[in-house]
Amino acid sequence: MGKPVLVIPCSGIGKPFGSIARDATFRVCDDLRPGTADTLCLSLIVMGDEEAREKVASSRCITVDGCPLACSHNNVARSGGNIAAEFRVMDLLRENRGLRPRAVTFLDEDGEKLSKMLGDRIAAKVDELSEGSR
Ligand code: SF4
Repeated sequence: MGKPVLVIPCSGIGKPFGSIARDATFRVCDDLRPGTADTLCLSLIVMGDEEAREKVASSRCITVDGCPLACSHNNVARSGGNIAAEFRVMDLLRENRGLRPRAVTFLDEDGEKLSKMLGDRIAAKVDELSEGSR
């Protein structure tokens, strides 16, 4: 098996969209694609941790952001990360206007639905990237 694809969510504390980005990431790394997907704490990259920098530069990365400020994408890009794909919770919301997640600490029903959809899309991208590296 090749190097795992790194899925890096924004920290998103205090915003439901950030919580969805994180939840979807854990879904992929823990349940859907364990072994082929892994994650990394964005704070390490923001703080300039050498090991984290080396990891994002030498792996294919997928950034997952809650809102258009794109904290994960911007910070991974700034530290020289190899970004193969990016996802934004806001894009998914635009396609599913009936869903209105509100809870922050724990996802409500609509938040869960969005997290599942996002997790499935990220997992499909992980498969595509893993196929390409074989
Ligand atoms: S991308 Fe948006 S939700 Fe995520 S950490 Fe940045 S400001 Fe918060």
